[in-house]
Formats: sequence, structure tokens, C-alpha cells
Amino acid sequence: MNRISKDLLAVLACPKCKSPVIETDNSIKCTNPLCGLVYPVREGIPIMLIEEATQPHDK
Ligand SMILES: [Zn+2]
Repeated sequence: MNRISKDLLAVLACPKCKSPVIETDNSIKCTNPLCGLVYPVREGIPIMLIEEATQPHDK
């Protein structure tokens, strides 16, 4: 399992709403409940791109 370092998580922010993010199973989730975008993690690298993110309430 590739874990994302706490240091890295601490400097990451949602590119859409600039809120802090948390690590979930194999993705990075925006902590803003109004946003909630989920970003994929590939090879241990968070992909912090809005166009790559998925929205839990989306379609
Ligand atoms: Zn966000």
C-alpha cells in the first residue's frame, strides 16, 4: 500500500475550493462538504486536478 505522507497531505488543498483534503481508501477527498470532490491517487501520487476528480453526488 502506498501511503501518502502526512507532510504531503498537509500542503495539499482542493484546487476548486482551496479546502484541506484528507486521505481515504485510495483517493484524496476534499473536506469541504459543499464541494466533496474526490481525487484519484496513482502510484502514490495524488492527482489534484478538477478534471480528474469525481463528485460523490454527480450523475
Ligand atoms: Zn473542494
